[in-house]
Amino acid sequence: MRRFCEEHGFRFHPVVALLFMDHALDYCEGRELAPEAQKTREMMLIDLETLIENGRKDHAKKCLLNRVLPVISWDMSVMPCCNYSYRKLADNFLDVSLEEIIRMRSGHPLCVQCQAHSLHRYFNPEMYSATVNELLQDHIAPGGSCGTGSGRFPEKAGNGGVRSLIS
Ligand code: SF4
Repeated sequence: MRRFCEEHGFRFHPVVALLFMDHALDYCEGRELAPEAQKTREMMLIDLETLIENGRKDHAKKCLLNRVLPVISWDMSVMPCCNYSYRKLADNFLDVSLEEIIRMRSGHPLCVQCQAHSLHRYFNPEMYSATVNELLQDHIAPGGSCGTGSGRFPEKAGNGGVRSLIS
């Protein structure tokens, strides 16, 4: 994948896999996790509690995804953002204007609920860059071939692009 990105001029940013936020929200609100979510939780490199706890540290910061447009899903429905799969704003994007979609998202109950649990900061690449880089170095590209350049996970410091995205 790294080679593909290099060949086609894309930036390659590996990230930790995580439990999708529909399930993280269930967890935060005391609902039992679905069996497949529980299985995923057990395989996570950074555990669910740590992700949630780290999100709480940034609670006061704004939601990053409110800066981008709502997401159109495969069935033409519209989601508030790419973090949730099961909560629609509209059934068909062709039936609603962009202005209306953005208006519906502002103050949407899901956003309020999500931010109440700091899940709008659930995933912060800065917190996990060192871990991912170590894995890349040790297991994926031994010998340091991904130690610099586009194959490297964004570092905590010195990456203005990433920093501006997540602050
Ligand atoms: S507050 Fe939560 S649900 Fe709303 S856009 Fe941000 S991440 Fe998505």
